[in-house]
Amino acid sequence: MKLINSPVTSFDINGKTIYIKHDELLHPDLSGNKARKLAHFIEHDLPHIDTLVSYGGVQSNLMFSLSALAKLKKWQFIYHSYPPAKTALQQTTGNLAQALANGMQLVTTQQNLRQTVYNTYNQKNQLIIEQGGAQLEAEYGIIQLANEIRHWAHHNGFTELAIFLPSGTGVSALYLQKNLPEFTVYTTNCVGTPEYLQQQWQELAPTNHQPTILPNLTYRFATPDYELWQTSQLIKQLSSTEFDLVYDPVGWHILLNHLQQISAPILYIHCGGLIGNLTMFNRYNYKYKID
Ligand SMILES: *Cc1c(COP(=O)(O)O)cnc(C)c1O
Repeated sequence: MKLINSPVTSFDINGKTIYIKHDELLHPDLSGNKARKLAHFIEHDLPHIDTLVSYGGVQSNLMFSLSALAKLKKWQFIYHSYPPAKTALQQTTGNLAQALANGMQLVTTQQNLRQTVYNTYNQKNQLIIEQGGAQLEAEYGIIQLANEIRHWAHHNGFTELAIFLPSGTGVSALYLQKNLPEFTVYTTNCVGTPEYLQQQWQELAPTNHQPTILPNLTYRFATPDYELWQTSQLIKQLSSTEFDLVYDPVGWHILLNHLQQISAPILYIHCGGLIGNLTMFNRYNYKYKID
């Protein structure tokens, strides 16, 4: 199975046209940059594997995508996390509920997650995927995304292009910039500091082509904020597109603040993550009574 060739639409804001690459439409369950990061495993037969193992937060978009991958491949899926709040386990929708519905086995522990996983699963039939999918195989699908963008830019006669996507691990932005050296990839740090993001890049793949960080010095990861809510509603209305409520509100807010500094046409990569919106919306609603 190949998940490729997502469509591009556009909308106008403050006298500028912004293009959107709709990776959220790649597949109902395997979408966004998670589908790109997992493309290597989706497209290749791995007959010696029957168990997928990973670890991280229980609201992770990657966790849900891994549950869809395991279901597709008919693998077991074991996921390690710290014990979640009771309310998280009671939810009937969102990444955790949907991943459990896909057959995910949740193992909770107080021990270091990565160490526990590597100590427990070392058989040939077990495939370990890093938190956030931060590993070399992720480049395979990002190269495909880079090729689609290059082709699209050429077709539209764009010789320069400013590509934007918000970062968690920063893996998607890094591999995109590495494989599109002729264009500028902009990103912002949604998790941790700008320095942390640069350090992640250095560890994963030292390259001269690092993305350009538009620093986020204000917004904490996955924390409802009224200004971000207003930005996300504005973008939703103008673009007729629903975006994720964890990464994209920060992404759009920071991008809009830098709009006048960027002269090249802008292409925003929609990274999916819409299944997690149900739980994030509830958190916004609890804090700001917006429904
Ligand atoms: C995972 C995710 C990101 C961040 O991707 P990284 O490769 O970890 O930087 C951004 N947006 C959405 C919607 C995501 O699910």
